[in-house]
Amino acid sequence: MKYYSTNKQAPEASLQEAVIKGLASDKGLYMPEEIKRLPGSFIDDMKNKTFQEIAYQVADAYFGEDIEANVLKEIVYDTLQFDTPLVQVEKNIYSLELFHGPTLAFKDVGARFMARLLGYFIQKEGKEEVNVLVATSGDTGSAVANGFLGVPGIKVYVLYPKGKVSAIQESQFTTLGQNITALEIDGTFDDCQALVKSAFMDKELNAKMELTSANSINVARFLPQSFYYFYAYAQLAKAGVTDEVVFSVPSGNFGNITAGIFAKWMGLPIAHFIAASNRNRVFLDYLQTAEYTPRPSIATIANAMDVGDPSNFARIQELYGIFDNPWERIGKEILSYSYTDEQIGETIARVYNKTGYLLDPHGACGYQALVDVKLANDQVGIFLETAHPAKFLQTVENIIGTEVEIPTKLQKFMLGTKQSIELPKTFEAFKNYLMNL
Ligand SMILES: *Cc1c(COP(=O)(O)O)cnc(C)c1O
Repeated sequence: MKYYSTNKQAPEASLQEAVIKGLASDKGLYMPEEIKRLPGSFIDDMKNKTFQEIAYQVADAYFGEDIEANVLKEIVYDTLQFDTPLVQVEKNIYSLELFHGPTLAFKDVGARFMARLLGYFIQKEGKEEVNVLVATSGDTGSAVANGFLGVPGIKVYVLYPKGKVSAIQESQFTTLGQNITALEIDGTFDDCQALVKSAFMDKELNAKMELTSANSINVARFLPQSFYYFYAYAQLAKAGVTDEVVFSVPSGNFGNITAGIFAKWMGLPIAHFIAASNRNRVFLDYLQTAEYTPRPSIATIANAMDVGDPSNFARIQELYGIFDNPWERIGKEILSYSYTDEQIGETIARVYNKTGYLLDPHGACGYQALVDVKLANDQVGIFLETAHPAKFLQTVENIIGTEVEIPTKLQKFMLGTKQSIELPKTFEAFKNYLMNL
């Protein structure tokens, strides 16, 4: 399968090139040239299959031409060493719990898949070393760092905004050592993302070292996220639910929701999506005005969604570009809601008191959007519970007024010693650091 750039000014790439480069040379995002439709019989039969079996079929549609079946199968099976259970919260609202992986956030799926695929390519090519640059607003850094930890031939640099991620999040990528380096940038997430993008465009840097990105712009990270949409549907079918499905996705850089849209285009029957946001509402504004106006991100308690210029918007535009009026079509298939910190807190408290289910601040946006959209009688809503609430311990404990139990997996990270390198937000400083490694 070939991959083309959303900006259309770069040559087509093979899977291997797209994965190693991350971003195309014209700063566009890679798109698979074809989205294969899976047969209806596969969809109908999913309820009898395991997560790994379903995921392998989905992966095969994208990567099957480029990776031997046994290798791809191993990568998929090894990536998915944990479950993504669907849990009923209310009569017609379900939580797709994506926090059972090593760092307790959905990004574990994409990060683990990408690490294994990249490791395979490096070995196959006999390359010496590849450097992964990743900007994080919180959870990407930990998922990528843990996904790549100890993978031979790969060095990871995690750029994160100083003082803007929770203590637990920070511990998950600053305490690992080995091939993982944490760079603490005096700026915002958008600054970190800009530094990574600039690094890819810098000739001198690229001549010195092989650079790649593990942000959700990388096809190897974002496409595997479609696996669990299929599996969620399979779990509903298994439970005998035949209602139409609406997916509500807490969205920041829009990688997760874009993977869901790909799943729909592959034939998964989804009524529509909801992009649930915090106060960073650039997508909602786009739906309302038909103008896409990126702006600086605002800090919120759902900090992994503090994104003012979501990268994957380019992919959504590209997908819907085939329609006469893309904006109108996008508006029908992807609704959006935006919530303030107060509203998020109110939702967490209300749901906890009423049902005992504890939402995290991101999942709370997804849940609340399913309430506000007013599902039809023959519809059920699934929101993606993108992280474990204990990752946002202070926030969540303050809201519900009780202690939250910290899973042992998380406690282990917090025992480590923080190691990070502080840098100003200028590209000059960042480049200097890399050039002098
Ligand atoms: C990254 C993240 C999001 C946003 O996902 P995108 O793919 O960037 O839209 C939502 N919730 C949590 C907990 C995250 O870590």
